[in-house]
Amino acid sequence: MDGHFDGAGKKSGDRNQKAGGLSVSKIATRIARRQLRQKQEEEHAAEQKKTDEHYMRLALQQARRAQALGEVPIGCVIVKEGEVIARGYNRRNTDHNTLSHAELNAIRKASRKLQDWRLEGCTIYITLEPCQMCSGAIVQSRIDRCVVGAMNPKAGCAGSVMNLLQVKGFNHQVDLTTGILEEACSQMLSEFFQRLRQEKQGKTAENLPEEKQEKAEGNLLRQQERTDR
Ligand SMILES: [Zn+2]
Repeated sequence: MDGHFDGAGKKSGDRNQKAGGLSVSKIATRIARRQLRQKQEEEHAAEQKKTDEHYMRLALQQARRAQALGEVPIGCVIVKEGEVIARGYNRRNTDHNTLSHAELNAIRKASRKLQDWRLEGCTIYITLEPCQMCSGAIVQSRIDRCVVGAMNPKAGCAGSVMNLLQVKGFNHQVDLTTGILEEACSQMLSEFFQRLRQEKQGKTAENLPEEKQEKAEGNLLRQQERTDR
């Protein structure tokens, strides 16, 4: 034994063995630290995922409000310091307005609440990957982080068609997390479009009770919304 590290430290009691100038005890300490750091990162990621899923469920509630109005079910919430400061859902047909996407409706409300166009320190949770307009608004409003449920391969601008949230040339980039409650988010959309197709094919009779239910729910939500705004 020449005092250098021989692979596995056969003499486990010998704390003075060297490996490239490092003693075995130092290596052991580094490994332990790295393992601890990994464990902490894993725990943090699991905690973050749980939090993200919680807020995505609230965004899904907003999507249901859109659905109740016969709109494509897309919803979102904006969170600052653990508090939901704004909610929004797609109202494009209801408002006869291209700008009435869930994200823009929520951004408008959040700015009103904070009395600031800058939404620094905020996270936006959206059930569907944002379009070019909303991705642009998210960057413009300086939102810190964007969490997405389902991706939108044909129109999404948070990685699908392009990634407007993270263009290095702009003065602000947005942290991005995708795939949170992805299945629930995309299922809601596919069910909506499936029902729409059935309606177009004249199969509405089968769904009548559910439709009546949704219409009643829509009326109730409209009443709630008047008090919301
Ligand atoms: Zn949009």
